[in-house]
Amino acid sequence: MAHVAFIGLGRMGHGMAGRYLDSGFAVSVWNRSRAKADDLIARGARWADSPADAARDVDAIVTMVADDNASREVWLGKNGAATTARPDTLAIECSTVSHQHALDLAHDLRERGLIYLDCPVTGLPEAAANGKLTLLVGADAADLERAQPYLAPISNAIRHLGPVGAGTVFKLINNLMGAVQIASLAEGLRIAEQAGLDMTMVQETLASGAVASPQVVRHSKRMVARDFAGASFTAALRHKDASYALTLAQDLQLDLPVSRATLDVYAAAKVHAPDDDEGRLIDVVGRIKPG
Ligand code: NAP
Repeated sequence: MAHVAFIGLGRMGHGMAGRYLDSGFAVSVWNRSRAKADDLIARGARWADSPADAARDVDAIVTMVADDNASREVWLGKNGAATTARPDTLAIECSTVSHQHALDLAHDLRERGLIYLDCPVTGLPEAAANGKLTLLVGADAADLERAQPYLAPISNAIRHLGPVGAGTVFKLINNLMGAVQIASLAEGLRIAEQAGLDMTMVQETLASGAVASPQVVRHSKRMVARDFAGASFTAALRHKDASYALTLAQDLQLDLPVSRATLDVYAAAKVHAPDDDEGRLIDVVGRIKPG
């Protein structure tokens, strides 16, 4: 039986780990807070005491943690997965990390004989739990081919964007553009509210008009109703992604004023409600004073 180590059981990782169990894999799990593993253990997962313990004798290691620091810790820390993984193990990093981190991690893990796949994802936690994520892969074609059986349980689309790092470049532009759309939506809705428009009419008209992206359709409903039940993506995570994207832009000698302004709005949202749904931006934008 193929054996996967799954590390990071947050909103996304918990559902992804469950998909491996449902697909008949032997699964070792580790999360910084153990309680999130309880029901996975009841479903047959083996609890590991550390990422190193999880990675012992497995065929693939999949990680889904918050950011660069968490990723570095779970792979390369004192009890990191790389300390025990066999050479030739697939190292599949699904977290959204910075471009430089993806390149550095690939380098360090390859030096230890592991096969690295840059594999950030798009899709909400519900898609993660149902195996319907889109995987944004940066990898050698042969490595991707070899990893297919370990990617199938969690995805319904795999986009091979190029060599290691390319998946992360795409993920960062995708989430930066999402940040700009959501911030711009919040500002437009605040104007409409302040001007006294019927907000149900505004929301319905936006949803059938030219700016009706999936982000605008989804967030306009939640923002107008101030209904953020079931937070799926937090202001803190979106801020992290936008900030990694702007660092990449800077490395590429690009100055992006719209994106910089959006990052400022998300910095304010992160202070206002870091762990709440990013749609709370609607309660932040009107308050920011110019200058
Ligand atoms: P989340 O619910 O906040 O989970 C974050 C995970 O990272 C938890 O398992 C957390 O452990 C772990 N973690 C944080 N800091 C750590 C550290 N220093 N050492 C070890 N583990 C650490 O976030 P999420 O929504 O699942 O997102 C996970 C990743 O997926 C992020 O990179 C995010 O940008 C990306 N993503 C999210 C979505 C989405 O819709 N939510 C969609 C696509 C991609 P604890 O449980 O102990 O806190």
